[in-house]
Amino acid sequence: MEKTKKTILAVDDTETNIDIMLELLGEKYDVIVALEGYTALEIVKENRVDLILLDIMMPKMDGYEVCRRLKSDESTLNIPIIFITAMSDEKSIEIAYEAGGDDYISKPFKPLELLARINTQLKLKELIEHLNYISSHDEMTKIYNRRKFFELGEKRFEENSENMYAVMIDIDKFKNINDTFGHPAGDKVIRLMAKTVSKLLLDDAIFARIGGEEFAILCSYPSHEVAAQSMEKIREAVEDLEVTSDDGKSIKFTISQGISKRTQETKNLDELLKIADVGLYEAKHLGRNRVVFK
Ligand code: GH3
Ligand code: MG
Ligand code: MG
Repeated sequence: MEKTKKTILAVDDTETNIDIMLELLGEKYDVIVALEGYTALEIVKENRVDLILLDIMMPKMDGYEVCRRLKSDESTLNIPIIFITAMSDEKSIEIAYEAGGDDYISKPFKPLELLARINTQLKLKELIEHLNYISSHDEMTKIYNRRKFFELGEKRFEENSENMYAVMIDIDKFKNINDTFGHPAGDKVIRLMAKTVSKLLLDDAIFARIGGEEFAILCSYPSHEVAAQSMEKIREAVEDLEVTSDDGKSIKFTISQGISKRTQETKNLDELLKIADVGLYEAKHLGRNRVVFK
């Protein structure tokens, strides 16, 4: 399969410069152009841009300011920015890097040098994205890992206090599944269960694998009843699942869940999770395959 082209945004107030860049890059990349800073910021908001070539001297908003704004926004800070400018004095270069620029090249540029520098920055970006992904996701289930759960969860806890619920989930008698059907079958159970729960959660829920067969959710629902019903639906959906072992045997499994609701007294995410964990513990003691609201 052919790899889709990367998108480069070229920002320059001189149209001849834009034409030169289009000529050089147009075949290998999708190039979007902007003749001024504000337009560039708008374009980045609305398109997936992989790299920006940025002029410095432009009317209204100069390239430094465009760069500062993009680098201070979490959603755009990983887009590499290469300054391409006629200003080649040391002070200008220094300000460009201070503004967050990733590379700097003087006009008139050598075409092969620009292409090579673009290639380096794109490779670096891919590597960073890959590292970000593997450090925040669980390899087996592709959902968030424990570290990311706490990072996102603590942020959510600070920002939003309304209708927040925490859920702890644990697969029932999972050791038996491993012992009876083997570890690979156990892995299949974990994967299918995570996929099923993901599909039944609202988009803004934070769902993670926080331990071997333990999962946590931080989510919001309009009421206690809706939260409980949603978790009950998840419990039923998991109960209906079936995994086939390598030697063709059918494996059924269930989960237990504990839910807690954030109140004015809840000090932090840890406390909210601890209360959900008490619910989970109770669910296990009451016979498993159930939801206990604390
Ligand atoms: P309970 O209903 O009380 O939760 O019983 P349990 O057997 O599920 O609980 P226990 O905590 O004793 O066992 C969990 C098991 O999960 C033990 C461990 O070997 C297994 N496990 C942890 N991570 C993985 C994994 O990634 N893959 C597989 N196949 N098993 C795992
Ligand atoms: Mg278990
Ligand atoms: Mg466990």
